[in-house]
Amino acid sequence: MIWPQSAQYLGRSRDGIPLCTHNQHQIPQPSAPHLSQPRGRVVGSRAKLMADNVRNIGIMAHIDAGKTTTTERMLFYSGKSHRIGEVDEGSATMDWMQQEQDRGITITSAATTIDWGDHRINIIDTPGHVDFTAEVERSLRVLDGAVAIFCAVGRVEPQSETVWHQADEYDVPRIAYVNKMDRIGADFYAALQEIEAKLGAHPVPLAIPIGRESEFEGTIDLITMEELRWSDDDGRTIERVAIRDELREEAEQWREKLIDAVSTYSDEITEHVLADEPVPVELIRDVLRTATLNRELLPTLVGASLRNVGVQPLLDAVVAFLPGPTELPPIHGKHPKKETDVEVARSREKPAVGMVFKIQSDREAGSLSFVRMYSGSIKSGEAVYNHNKGKRERVNRLLRMHANRTEQIDRVSAGEIAVVVGFKLAQTGDTIGSEGYPVVLERIQFPEPVISVAIEPQTLSERDRLKQVLELLMREDPTFLWKEDADTGELIISGMGELHLEVLVGRMTDEYKVNARIGNPQVTYRESVGREQRHTEHFSKVLGGKENEAELTLVVRPRERGAGNSFRSSVAADALPTEFAQAIERSIQGAFLSGIKLGYPCVDIEVELVDAKVDEERSTAFAFEAAAAIGFDNACNAADPVLLQPVMKLTVVCPKEYLGDVIGGITTRGGIVHAVDSRELTEVISADAPLKAMFGYSTSLRSATQGRGTYAMEFSHFALDETRG
Ligand code: GDP
Repeated sequence: MIWPQSAQYLGRSRDGIPLCTHNQHQIPQPSAPHLSQPRGRVVGSRAKLMADNVRNIGIMAHIDAGKTTTTERMLFYSGKSHRIGEVDEGSATMDWMQQEQDRGITITSAATTIDWGDHRINIIDTPGHVDFTAEVERSLRVLDGAVAIFCAVGRVEPQSETVWHQADEYDVPRIAYVNKMDRIGADFYAALQEIEAKLGAHPVPLAIPIGRESEFEGTIDLITMEELRWSDDDGRTIERVAIRDELREEAEQWREKLIDAVSTYSDEITEHVLADEPVPVELIRDVLRTATLNRELLPTLVGASLRNVGVQPLLDAVVAFLPGPTELPPIHGKHPKKETDVEVARSREKPAVGMVFKIQSDREAGSLSFVRMYSGSIKSGEAVYNHNKGKRERVNRLLRMHANRTEQIDRVSAGEIAVVVGFKLAQTGDTIGSEGYPVVLERIQFPEPVISVAIEPQTLSERDRLKQVLELLMREDPTFLWKEDADTGELIISGMGELHLEVLVGRMTDEYKVNARIGNPQVTYRESVGREQRHTEHFSKVLGGKENEAELTLVVRPRERGAGNSFRSSVAADALPTEFAQAIERSIQGAFLSGIKLGYPCVDIEVELVDAKVDEERSTAFAFEAAAAIGFDNACNAADPVLLQPVMKLTVVCPKEYLGDVIGGITTRGGIVHAVDSRELTEVISADAPLKAMFGYSTSLRSATQGRGTYAMEFSHFALDETRG
């Protein structure tokens, strides 16, 4: 990754680069539902609109809908980018990483700040490809509102549905933008219908297009009832003129629909309508804003970003209709030890609480931690407390990232986003703040890595360097894991899909200059137990002349599929010193990662410590740690271990004539088709399929449909693998 002009601010120091010391990684527990925090209802007021001048927004879109092009224009019109970067030329400012430029897709969600009027907008980039759902989850967690971009031709694609529903879970208020009105086949009104039918949203057009396809020339603002014309080539100047006569009737009709929609939420508007009076523009905006924040209405705009038409009204709408950070209800966290609920007020005056939502490595500056502050502030030069790690870390520098420069700042406060240079331990999802105000915000839940591949350095001398790079990438990306096979010494990397791993391997070569070869991708299975088993383990060993003795009894039992692993102790606290209890828990958590028979991580196992015998003289933490690990192994091996395989949710879209072949292809791979949804020209097939049978699916789908079928695949759940185990 190259941060344009960063050298001047970041210098050449290497602070923050973590070295590879271990390959233990905390695997996120599986599929606890992505608990969202209800954001509550908002009661609107005009005063609030001015109270908070920051917007933290994400831009969500299906690949190719025009997210990058639109974002580029936003940067350009806000004055932070000196020329419009074109995606097709591969120079788009947001697509920093070489890989993204080569592929023309946006992968990571970095945050970029722009100023719009007297507002500051932090744009948190959100990828559209399902192989990167973790990135989407991560950004949904820290943003306060989102712009959903749709293509006026492709409209609502299956992948947009996935991201849309994720945003529903997090209660994210949204506005929509229908892009590419200049393309052949563009149909704004059909897009509105699809948004309503497939996403269950209530789009309310705030503008309608003037013309379409090559005749698309501007929009009509339905709030002010004016025509908007973009009069110069780069779209900077907008003329607002009276609506021409031949469009007046259509504009009136859509205006009526808009007033109808908002009047449902406001008696004041209804009264104006009944009295046949004009409805004040500010009143319409206020009511729309409240309905948007409560996710009842979806203000919808239209344009063609590539033609520089439509982007400024979209930015105005971000400010007018999406929430500022202090307008949202308090956020909830937990006390890290007592597990009690803690409510964090979104106030600058309160103690600092922030979340690390992204780590990126920069070759020169080291580790960059993107932080979203919820309360209080942190200052450059001070030490802050990482509640997840239980350690203090220094904020060497604080940066705000603009599209083409980094700005050094002194402090970052509640509601704001900034980059900390200097954290060495922080991982994505960690809560930072002050030691005296212990709170851990809900962790970001990441999906399980489901595919693995062996990776080998080109030359043996590069092996250590490769391990270092793998460690760096793992800190950045919680859905990426690496480990060294204890028996063969092979290095194994795991991730969310073939594309995910390909992109990471590409980065190793391009950014970190290590040459590596990869083998064929393999499925990462999981191990679990089939029944309950009680086991007593006695450990005794003399080491360095000192005796180490421990005895404990464990019960292992299967949990419901998807419930994750858990450890609990029913031994009275005074019967087992804390130091020993912690050693046992640490050991069991480690054992969950190393598997039972085949070395795949364990899932859905409960371990209960039911007894522990302490010998005052001879017991040590080491002995309990060892007894727990060996005891876990023995108990699980006796508890009918089972092998679980990842099952993927598959959505295929193909022209009608290929339906039979596509379904045949899915069933021969062991997939189960759940539904076929007939659209005008295409069929949309929803299925579950075992991942192990899905390698190379893109090639076979292409040949079965003459290149006209597309598909999206994401992890669904783990299920018993009848063919192995
Ligand atoms: P992303 O994948 O959502 O980031 O989409 P991009 O911004 O990379 O755009 C995908 C393709 O659509 C590129 O070739 C763009 O030039 C093109 N594109 C984006 N916006 C428009 C538009 O308004 N009209 C037309 N005709 N093409 C567009």
